Amino acid sequence: MNVLMLGAGQLARMMALAAKPLNIEVRAYDVGSEQVINPLANEQVYGDLASGIAHADAITAEFEHIDHDVLALCEASGKLKPSSQAIKIGGDRRLEKALLAQSQADNAEHVIVEDEQGFQQALEHLSLPIILKSALAGYDGKGQWRLKSNEQAAQVWTEVDEFFAGSKSLVKQGIVAEQMVPFDREVSLVGVRGVNGDVKVYPLTENHHTDGVLSVSLALTGEEELQKQAQQVFTNLTNAMDYVGILAIEFFQVGNKLLVNEIAPRVHNSGHWTQQGSDTCQFENHIRAVCGLPLGGTELLRPTAMINILGEDQVSNEVLAIQGVSVHWYGKTKRAGRKMGHINVSGESHAQLQQRLQAVADLLPESAFSDIKAYIGNLT
Ligand code: ATP
Ligand code: MG
Repeated sequence: MNVLMLGAGQLARMMALAAKPLNIEVRAYDVGSEQVINPLANEQVYGDLASGIAHADAITAEFEHIDHDVLALCEASGKLKPSSQAIKIGGDRRLEKALLAQSQADNAEHVIVEDEQGFQQALEHLSLPIILKSALAGYDGKGQWRLKSNEQAAQVWTEVDEFFAGSKSLVKQGIVAEQMVPFDREVSLVGVRGVNGDVKVYPLTENHHTDGVLSVSLALTGEEELQKQAQQVFTNLTNAMDYVGILAIEFFQVGNKLLVNEIAPRVHNSGHWTQQGSDTCQFENHIRAVCGLPLGGTELLRPTAMINILGEDQVSNEVLAIQGVSVHWYGKTKRAGRKMGHINVSGESHAQLQQRLQAVADLLPESAFSDIKAYIGNLT
C-alpha cells in the first residue's frame, strides 16, 4: 500500500519508519517545494501533487496548516483521512472553539476577535490576564499576545491590527482572546479512531514546556478519573467529526477538572514516548487507522518519558549506554529552539525511570538544557 502524507517533516519521517514493516510506503508532499518525496531517503518520487494523489491508496496529513485548495484536491480523490474539515478545524482556532461548544467540551472563556470592536468586547467580557492567540497558523506559542493590564490594551491592539494587515492567508485572519487559566499542570491525550468508529487512547501525558515549546512528556499512571474524563472528551470530539486517525487533545488540569486547550488532528509531539512505552506507537496506529487496518494496543507497557532535543544537533553518545534509552534524530539543520530530535526513556518502575531520566539529564549540557534538567531534578 501507498500512503501520501501532506507535510514532509519529522512526523512524516517517523510515520514512514513505522509503516515499513507493514509493507506500507509513505510518500510525503512537501508544501514548500510542491514535490512528493520519500521522507526516509529525502529524494523526489513524484514531481507534483497530482501524481502523488493518483498513486496513493490513502492520503493523510502530518500538520494542519495546509492550503485549502490542496485539501480540496485530496478530498475529491475520496482517499483523504481524516476529512478536510477535521484538518481545517485543527488549523483554525475559531472552528476549534465551535467544535468544543458543539461537543460540550469544557474550555477557557473566550471571545473571537476580528476587528477593533471585537477586541473591545473581549476586554469587556473577559477579566485580566487575557491571552490572545492567532486563529490561523499558530504553533509552538507563536502568534500570541498576553494582556496583563488595561494600560497594555492600546499597544496590544496596535500589534494585533498590524498582524491582521500583514496576513497573507486567503482565509480571514482572526484572534481568539482567552481568559488565562490558572492551571495546575498541562496534560494531553493522544488517541486513535478507526474507520469503523473504534476508539483506543494512550495514557494521559504530563507536559512540560520550555520557552513556550514542549520539552518533556511523561506518561501518567494511576489517574483513572482524569483518564476517564479525557477519554470521554476524545470520544465526543472524534465522533462529532467522524474522525479517522490519531488525534491529540491538550488540556489544562485545574484541580480534578480538565479544560481543553487545543486539539491537533494528527500525531503529536506529546505522543512520541509511545515508540518505546506502548505496544503500538502513535505513528503505526495512525497508519493503521487511515489504511482501514485493525488498531494496535495503546496500553502503557512500562513507565516512559520523552525529552525533546531543542536547538542542538548532538548529545553525548553516553546516553545510549543507559538502559531503556532510545535516541531519535530528525535529520534537520540546526536552528535555535528547533525540534531536532527526542530521547525516550523507559524503566521497569517509576523509581527506575526517574533514575534513568536523571542519568540522561546529567549528560545534557547546562547551556541548552537547564530548564529540562531542573524539571527532571524536581520530579518525585
Ligand atoms: P503548541 O504548538 O506548542 O501546542 P500553540 O502555539 O498551538 O502551541 P497553545 O497550546 O494554545 O499554542 O498555547 C501555548 C501555551 O501557552 C500553552 O501550552 C499554555 O502553556 C499557554 N496557554 C495557552 N492558552 C492559555 C490559557 N488560556 N491560559 C493559560 N495558559 C495558556
Ligand atoms: Mg499547544
